[in-house]
Formats: sequence, structure tokens, C-alpha cells
Amino acid sequence: MSDFNSAALKTTDTKQLLALTSEAIVDIFEVETAYVFEKLSGADQYLHLFHDGIEVVCDKMRPLLDDIEVVSSQTQGTGAIREGLNLKTELHYLNQFAKAIYFRYTDVDAGNTLLIIGMVSVKNEPLYRKLEPRQDSIYNVFGQQVQSLLGNIKKSEQIQQQINTISASELELKKLSLIATKTKNGVIITDNQGRIEWANDSFSESSGFSLDEVIGKKPKEFLHGPETDDNTREILSEALSKKKNVEVTLLNYHKSGSRYYNQLEITPVLDEQGNLLNFISLQKDITDEIRAKEEILRINSRFEQIAEKSQIGIWEREFMDNTIVWNDILMNQYGVKRNETKEDLVAVWRTCVHPDDLQHVLDSQQKLYSKEAESVELEYRIKRINDGQWRYLKTLTIAETDEQGELQRLIGSSVDITETRLSQEKLRASEEKYRRIIENMNLGLIETNLNGELIFMNELFFKNTSILHPQHLVLGQNPELALQQRVIDKDIVSFRKIDDEVFEIEILDSEEKALHLLVSTGNVLNQSSKTSGYINIILDISSEKQLNINFERALAERDSYLKEVDTLKQFYENVLNNSPAKIAVITPDLKVAFYNNLLAEQEPAWANSEGKSIKDLLSDRQDFLSKIEASLASLKLVQLEEKMTYDNGEDKYILRNILPHVNQKNELEYLVISGVNISELKEIQSSVTTKNEELKKINTELDNFVYSVSHDLRSPLLAIKGLINLIFQTSSLDKNVETYLKLAEDSVLRLDSTIQEILDYSRNARLDLELKEVDLAKLVEPIFADLKFSAPEGIELEIEIDGNPRIITDETRMSVLLKNIIGNAVKYRRNIPEAFVKVHVSHGDTSTFIRIEDNGQGITQKSLTKVFDMFYRGTSESIGTGLGLYLCKEIVDKFGGKLSVNSEWGQGSTFIIEHPHKTLAHE
Ligand code: ADP
Repeated sequence: MSDFNSAALKTTDTKQLLALTSEAIVDIFEVETAYVFEKLSGADQYLHLFHDGIEVVCDKMRPLLDDIEVVSSQTQGTGAIREGLNLKTELHYLNQFAKAIYFRYTDVDAGNTLLIIGMVSVKNEPLYRKLEPRQDSIYNVFGQQVQSLLGNIKKSEQIQQQINTISASELELKKLSLIATKTKNGVIITDNQGRIEWANDSFSESSGFSLDEVIGKKPKEFLHGPETDDNTREILSEALSKKKNVEVTLLNYHKSGSRYYNQLEITPVLDEQGNLLNFISLQKDITDEIRAKEEILRINSRFEQIAEKSQIGIWEREFMDNTIVWNDILMNQYGVKRNETKEDLVAVWRTCVHPDDLQHVLDSQQKLYSKEAESVELEYRIKRINDGQWRYLKTLTIAETDEQGELQRLIGSSVDITETRLSQEKLRASEEKYRRIIENMNLGLIETNLNGELIFMNELFFKNTSILHPQHLVLGQNPELALQQRVIDKDIVSFRKIDDEVFEIEILDSEEKALHLLVSTGNVLNQSSKTSGYINIILDISSEKQLNINFERALAERDSYLKEVDTLKQFYENVLNNSPAKIAVITPDLKVAFYNNLLAEQEPAWANSEGKSIKDLLSDRQDFLSKIEASLASLKLVQLEEKMTYDNGEDKYILRNILPHVNQKNELEYLVISGVNISELKEIQSSVTTKNEELKKINTELDNFVYSVSHDLRSPLLAIKGLINLIFQTSSLDKNVETYLKLAEDSVLRLDSTIQEILDYSRNARLDLELKEVDLAKLVEPIFADLKFSAPEGIELEIEIDGNPRIITDETRMSVLLKNIIGNAVKYRRNIPEAFVKVHVSHGDTSTFIRIEDNGQGITQKSLTKVFDMFYRGTSESIGTGLGLYLCKEIVDKFGGKLSVNSEWGQGSTFIIEHPHKTLAHE
């Protein structure tokens, strides 16, 4: 204990004392462990805690401390033993302690409480001295001793502190006096009651009061006035009454009554015991600053208002302290909320700027840093954070520099021009669109202002047309009047008003050719719907006009055609209606297009049949319909003969022609059905047939008659001829008798040959062809032989055959034919030595040609056409009957061939038989 006392007395440090105490308790009171701590009275704040001589962090021991606090709260300045200690702390180590001895003391003046505790655990209890009640007093003495030691230390600490304060105040005072005299600020020193003891010149200057006037007065008595803020005065007086340092700004009144703002800093001066000696008040007239601030505030608020009204975003970046301020509008523009934006606003801005614009914006702003520019105006896009929309901003950034030209801050404004921009773009796009439309439509466009000065002209149009002076088409407010004047001035040829705003104008182009323009005029209205100019739209309608003329011409032509067609139609209808035939015209879909009157009259089914289907109309006349179908299928004329019974019971025969009418492509256009009454024809036909048959009969009878007559005539004739021959054979005939006899014989011979020919004719007419293969050379041979005698002076007879001499023919007829023609050639020879008859046979594809040529008398042109007529004789010298060639012609006709002749009078004749090739019936 004495050791502790001597050590404790030497110490001047609280901590050291507390450490010693905590060690000493264990030793002196033989406890297991000890805690000593100091806390501020009344406050929940522990200052120091020592455990067995070692300082422990108070906070760690809070549970213990709180518990002990409660345990010891009843006692003051006494020691006590407590058993059955049950510390329910979280520090399990402490839970073992069951007994404690403690001392608690609170020093009201020093404001601290001291607690000293010694503890013994249940487990170790027997090892330590039993804490007996008598130890209370010892412990109490010990505690009081520690307490007084601590009190001494505290006091000496206080003294030391005061010494320090005084020396500091001395230093301060020295400084102050220096400031007081040198400073431009006002300085007042008052006594502890606040009465002025001293004031410097600056104070006199700023307040207007001299030192003499103010000495002994309290500053508030003459400096404060009605507008001096009461709250501030309250703060001031309260601080002063508490002897505290105070800084306020007050509205003061100058001696003259003018007001000024005084920034006050009042420091109380205390003596060592803390008694108030003086107040030193430093005063500064900050009226100008405040006014400036107010002005700035006012400007700022006005500016804010403007900014808000006009939705101008504003920001400021201060480089001194690197602060950035955005106003609410700017926040809105970027779609961020002030309280939500913890991030750096510069970073926010950077993320918002459109990547395509960012570099340009940064480059431009760089000019502010490099001092190339003092302000930068920009337009760029940002992506608004809250809705991700792209917005267009128009911004202005101004650099503010200090006097040295150093960049102090950047101030920026920003206006969201998205809507304007978009509408501008829209406007531009639509303008562009209209312009393009105008260019493409080939419309002329002239826009002028109210004075008629040209604002816009569609150059392309005027380049492409040959309008000489577009300005002649500037029409202004009264287009009609303007046009009338243009006509008088001969700028234009004429005009025609279509309505108040549209005119058709004729002008001449560079080649004096008329151009027709459609000019429509209109006013250009500004936003307030007032006329700001005029616009003319010009359309070159020359070609349309021409087209129109052509069209009208075409119409007229068409009309005349139509008239013609109508006339034609009427004509044809007239013709058709008055035709003796019944006519109907049918369309390809088998509907009746036309029927004539006769048809409707005679076949009432057709009446009112226009448009009706002929299938319905002729449903009971199947053969008629099938002929129509046949005609449609073949597109050829099909005929049909019908027997009809008319209403009057008459039977009529109708011949119907179904004639398809096709176009050039061979497509059916109409079917023309005509019907002709052939009843009369039929009657004629049948009477002709009857007559023919009668005639045939008569002919046959006549033929038979001729034959039998000829035949019968020939027998007596041949008898006469025989008798004449007998008479010639009797001798001594009288010369005359002989001559007469000769003549008689000639006549008989001639009659015989005539009868022969008549018989041949009759045979030819009556008998059918008897075909067989005949050798023409052989057939001609006897003919030549017989004729030799007829030409005693000599005639050359020759036959030449090309190819086969055999043909298929009727031998008898061919013989009669050749005999006659060759006979004639001999008969009508000339009496010349080189007289000849040449027969030439040749074969063609379809016929055999037999040519009989002579160089006899020939036939005159006049006779040539008649030589084949019955009984025709060429000359009076002709010795024949005139039947020969007629018979030849009949025979060739029977062959189905042709007989022709070429001849020249006095030169000779050539007869040509064309005999068609024939086949034998059995072949
Ligand atoms: P005809 O019995 O008179 O010969 P045809 O009918 O045989 O009668 O001949 C008619 C007429 O044609 C003859 O009268 C004769 O004038 C003339 N004729 C016929 N053949 C010849 C001929 N080869 N040369 C000249 N005249 C001819």
C-alpha cells in the first residue's frame, strides 16, 4: 500500500494512476483480478479502462461496465462487497466471477466517475482472501485515496491547460493588437458588460461614429435599427451571455442612417479563472458583397425562372472545387432525377451523347480548354435515360476565366429542340417531296412576294418548255387584271378565265408557235394566315389541247362514220327486208341478231325473236338445227330443203342456205340463214323433166324414123346404082345418054353418101360407145387407100405416130371421124404437085392428139366459125352435103373430147382431135 502511495503521488498522469491502481488492488486485496475505469458523469461515455495494469478498449468491455454500473448505482463514495455476482455478459470469461469488491465515486466539479472493482471467481475462491465485510472500510479508504489522487492530477492538468491557454491568448493578443491597428476591418473592444472601451479607425469609418461618440456605449444601442434581424440578434446575445465565440452578419445603421451589412466575429476574453474580461469584436462591412450576392441571387433566380419558362437546361462546372451543378430542366432533358443520380454528372452526360456526335462535341469543347474559343454552340443528339429516346439538343457552353486568364468554370445552356428539329425535318422532307413532285410532274411553279419579286421558280420546267418569259406569268393579287394588261402589252396572245383562280393562256414560243398554258394562281399564307406572296402553277397543256382537237376531230369522224354506218345499216336492212328471200342473222352464240320482214311474215315463229336463242326457236326442227351445227363445225355453206305447210294449208318448198360469215382470222362472226321459196322452181323443174322425157321419146322416135327412112331409101338407091352400072356395060351407048347416065350416077352416089352420113349421124346419136383397143395406123390405112382414087393427079398421104399407135376408143366412130376429115382434106386440095395430107398422132397426159394437116384451099376466116354447123358448106364449089363436119363434132362430143381447126385461105387447114384417154370397162 505504501509502495502504491509513493508511486501514485509521483505520477501526474491520469492513465498512469489508473494503471497503478488496477495493479495495486490485486496485490493489496488479494483478489483474482481487478478493473479500474473512469467515465464522464451523467454521460454514457467511458474515458479509460484498465485491467490488471493494462489499458483495455472500453467498447469491448461495455457489457461488464453496464452491468457494474447497475450493481453499483446505489452507492456513492463507498466501498462494498458483493456476493453472488452474476454477470450475464457476453464475455464468458467474466461469467465465472461470483464475488466482487468495488468502489464508486463521482466528482461533481471534475464531472467524472471513478469505479474500482476487484473480483474472485467461484472456482478460485479458496486461493484468494475471502472478501470479508471488514475489508469494506479498507477498500473505502483506498478508494478515496485514489479518488483524491485522481482529483489532484485532474486539477494540475487543468492548471497546465490554463497556462497553455494564457500563453496562447497572449500570442493571440499580440496578433490581435497588430491586426487591430493594421486591419481595414473594424475592431471594437468592449468590457465584460459589452460597453465600448476602444474602437479602431476603420470602425469609425464604416459606422460614421468617432471613438469619442461611442466610448461607454453598447454597439447595439447605436448600430442596430428596425430592419436588423431579430433572430440574428438573439443568436448574438445568447452566445455572448454564454461567453462563447460568435460569428454573425447583421444589418447595421450608419450614423447617417444608411444601412450596411456587418460581418461580426466576437471573441470573449476570459481570465485564468474563466471570468469574462472583455469582448473583442471584429467587424467587416460586407454590404457590397451582400448586395452583389443578392444581385447574383436575384439574377440567378430570374435566370432560373427564364430557364424554367423557356425550358433551358443550365449547368455549371467549377474547376476550383470540381463541382458540377445541373438545373432541374437539364435533369429532365437527360431524363435523370436529382436524388437518384449519385453518379458523376459528366459521366452521365458522356453516356447519353450519341456516339456519332460525341467526338465532334468533345473536339469543340476542347477549344474552350485550349482557349481557342470563349464559347461553343453545338447541336447534338442524346439518348434520354428514363425512356431511351433520342433527343436533339442545342447547347451553348461559355468558358469563364479569372484575371490571369485561367479557366475557372464552364457554364452551359441546353435546349431540347427535338420537336422543332423533327418538325423542321418533316417540313424539309415534305418540301423536298413536293419539290420533287413538282419537278417530276413537269409543273411550272412561280412564287413571288407581295411586291412581285421572284422567290422561287421551277427552273427545270421553264428549261424544258419554250416559254420565253416566265415573268409574264407572274400575276400577283389580281390575275385577271394582270392578264388583260399582258394581252394589251402583247406579252400573251389571249387568255380564258376558267374560274377566279384558273386561267388558260395562249402565248407564243420562240418559233412563234402557240403554247397553251393552264395557270392556276393562289395566295401564299404565312403562319398568321396573312397573304405573304403569290404562287402560280403552270401546266403546259399544248399537247393536251392538240389531243383535244384531234379527239374532237376523231369524234366528228366517228359520228360521220356512225351516220354512214347507220345509212348503210338502213340500206342493208331495206335490202334485206325487201329481199325475196327470208333472212335471219345469227350471232356465234346462236342468238337472233336480225330477221327480215318476209321471214317474220311467213314464219311467225321468227317475229320478235331478236336476242332469242335459235335452239329454242327451232326446237321442233331437229334437221334444221343439225344442219346449223354442221355449218358451224365446217364453217361452210350448208343447204337444206324443207317442206313447209303454211297457215293457209299451202305446201311450200323452202331452200335454206346456212352461210357462216367469218372474219380474217377465220372466226365466226355471224351465221346468215336465208330461205327461198322454191315451190315454183320445183314445179317448173318437174314440168321440164316431163317435157324432157317426152322430147327424148320423140327424139328416139325421130332417130328411129330417120334411120329406117335412110335405110329404106338406100336399098332402092343401091338398086338404081346397080341398074346404071348395067346400062354402062351395054355397048353402043349414045354419047348424050352416056353423059346423062354419068350425071345420074353422080347424083345417086351423092344421095347415097348423104344417106350414109345421115345414118352415121343417127347411129352416133342412138348407140352407146363401144370401146376397144384400136390401132390408129391400121385404121387410117384403108382410108388412105380409098382416097387414092379420088386424086388421080396424085397427093401425098402420110401418117406419123409418136409412141403407141393403139388407143382405147370406139372404132366405128373414130373411123367415120377420120374418114370425113381426111376426106375433106383430099376433097379441098389444090391442084399443085406437092399437095399433101399429113396425119400426126401424139399422146398427152390425159388425151391423145390427132392432127390432120393439109396444104389445100384453106377456109376463110368468115367460114371458119361455121364449118361445124349442120349443112354448112364453105363455098358454092363445095361438093359435099355440109353434114360431114357437123357429124365429126357430134362424134368428138360423144368421146368427151374437143375438135378444133386452124386454117388460112389459100394456104391449107389443120384439124385437131383431142381424144381423152379411156379405160375398158373390165379394166
Ligand atoms: P361438105 O359436105 O360440103 O364437105 P362439110 O361439113 O364436110 O361439108 O364441110 C363443110 C365445108 O367446110 C365444106 O363445104 C368446105 O367448104 C369446108 N371444108 C371442109 N374441109 C375443108 C378442107 N380440108 N379444106 C378446105 N375447105 C374445107
